[in-house]
Amino acid sequence: MKEQLGLYVHIPFCERKCKYCDFLSGPSSVQNKKAYIDALKKEIEQWKGYDEKYEVVSIFFGGGTPSSIDAEDLAAVLDKLCEVFKIEDCDRIEITTEANPGTLTKEKLEVYKKGGFNRLSLGLQSTHNEELKMLGRIHTYEEFLENYKMAKEAGFTNINIDLMSALPNQTKEGYRQTLERVLALKPSHISAYSLIIEEGTPFYEVYGEDKELEHTLPDEETDREMYHMTKQLLKEAGYDRYEISNYALDGKECIHNKLYWTGKAYLGFGVGASSYIEGVRYRNEEDLSEYMNYINKKKDIKRDVTKLSQNEKMEEFMFLGLRLIQGVSKQAFETQFGVSVEEVYKDVLKKHEQEGLLINGKERIYLTEPGLDVSSYVMSDFLLE
Ligand code: SF4
Repeated sequence: MKEQLGLYVHIPFCERKCKYCDFLSGPSSVQNKKAYIDALKKEIEQWKGYDEKYEVVSIFFGGGTPSSIDAEDLAAVLDKLCEVFKIEDCDRIEITTEANPGTLTKEKLEVYKKGGFNRLSLGLQSTHNEELKMLGRIHTYEEFLENYKMAKEAGFTNINIDLMSALPNQTKEGYRQTLERVLALKPSHISAYSLIIEEGTPFYEVYGEDKELEHTLPDEETDREMYHMTKQLLKEAGYDRYEISNYALDGKECIHNKLYWTGKAYLGFGVGASSYIEGVRYRNEEDLSEYMNYINKKKDIKRDVTKLSQNEKMEEFMFLGLRLIQGVSKQAFETQFGVSVEEVYKDVLKKHEQEGLLINGKERIYLTEPGLDVSSYVMSDFLLE
């Protein structure tokens, strides 16, 4: 039987940089975008033959803003993937593109649909225009609503909406209103994260540690209350929380992200994209012009290569798997590493079970509700010397 494989395509372009963003992305010219698409297709060609060992189960276009480039170009990259990895029936697998409100049109959505995309992930973040403006987003809530309606009309039934809490000056009532407005739309999937102030972003200069406006960020207690509010309102609305920050209606969990959390193989294409295949992690060249140079000179792209040790693989298996509400399979651990999870993590499992943060069941190990609330603390104990 062939192993499962996910494919990721990185589109590093955005109309303008959001103030909190540290992703590899930014504005660019139409010409550069076209040249990048050509480079992507050439990079994909380099992986010919991988279809013999692997079966592609999901494709994800992320960024950046994939919807900031021509829809035909995006569809052409998808075509190239289908050709190289011999994917005949797009409907059988999950094919997602991220898209930002303010960059979508009816025509674009129709091209996506016709091209084989069957899932959209929309970056909304908030339904309050003053918050969107403060974040540096290019769209308003009204534009999002219009785009969401267009996506439905174009035939997209599987739509994720990204939300963010713990924003500067955000109140619990304001966040509740965002959740309620989004729930009224009944998207199939919701991702809800707390804002993290990353170094090197404009936000860090004003809201970072000891910076002038740090006090406008919600305190720890309010942040936790927003987190609990998300859990509660989404549960009441029928969403299943299947990962710490991800919620889905029945059968609409994101197949692609689940591949990451269960340690399956994936290949990433494009500048800075990561791959994990046969126990080795690769990261493509992060400089856009260098990446283009390698491709255009028909050379293999420069990649950072990290061969994970057995211990690192076990740590990753636990860190990622415990993010899932169903946790990790003890049998899968043993099959993969040739040793039982109890033999490796006996003391850690015992400690967190006694604290009521983890359940060591017959078949699976998973975090309890209080354990999920302090997941970083629990997971840090799974580091091996
Ligand atoms: S749209 Fe997304 S990737 Fe682009 S700058 Fe904003 S947060 Fe970053």
